[in-house]
This record gives sequence, structure tokens and C-alpha cells, in this order.
Amino acid sequence: MIRIPRGVLEEIRARGAKAYPEECCGALVGQTTERGEKTVLLTKHLENRHPGGRKRRYFVGPDAYREAESWARRHGLDVVGIYHSHPDHSARPSEYDREHAWPWYSYLILSVERGTPAGLASWVLRDDRNRFDPEELECT
Ligand SMILES: [Zn+2]
Repeated sequence: MIRIPRGVLEEIRARGAKAYPEECCGALVGQTTERGEKTVLLTKHLENRHPGGRKRRYFVGPDAYREAESWARRHGLDVVGIYHSHPDHSARPSEYDREHAWPWYSYLILSVERGTPAGLASWVLRDDRNRFDPEELECT
């Protein structure tokens, strides 16, 4: 389960609309309880560096991930997940998303239909990396 404040969700929706027709992406920064429940407190925008297909894909280099991790740690927090948008596609992870995801992290996907933010869903990759499971999302 992942808890996200309404303000943070609004911020992600606004970024998804602004990046349209390209995908936006960023880190979800917050805390994790012992039971594995995540609470997002803020986000860190990451530049979509995919060389060719930013309308259908996002890419964040390892350096940017490391930078986001150390930025979070400086705030006494952790990166608990990644958000990205799907321009004119549903909020379900693509095969590309699965191939590039890691277990444990939450993958929050925002569907942006013709420039307007639509569905939003969070996913967690199984340990065997074969598929994503939907994650309960609570707006706080
Ligand atoms: Zn995707």
C-alpha cells in the first residue's frame, strides 16, 4: 500500500499535462514502515532522457537515480518509487516498463488523455520480475 498526499498527486497530474505529448517522470520520496507500507512526502522531478521515443518511453540514467537517492537521504528520506505518465495510454505498465523496473519500488503511472490527466494507478513488480501487481493507493 502506498499513501500519497492529494497535493503531491495534483503536482504529478500537472507535470503529466505539461509534458504531454511526451512522458514525464520523477522520484517518489518518503518513508516505509516495517510492514512495507510506503508514505510519499514529496517528489523529485527527473528529466526524461530517452534518446528517441519520449512519447512512449522514459529513461532516467543511473546517475540521476543516484542523485535522487542522495537528495532524499539528505532529507532523511528514501526513494520509495518512480512516477511516469502515459500519453494517450492507460495507466497500466508496458512491457518496456516491466523490463526496466526493479522489485519493491512503487511504479505510479498517470494516464494523460489528449493532454488531460486521467487514470492513476500504482504497481509493484514481483520478485521474479514476471509481472506487476496493482498496489493499493490511498490519497491522504
Ligand atoms: Zn510506462
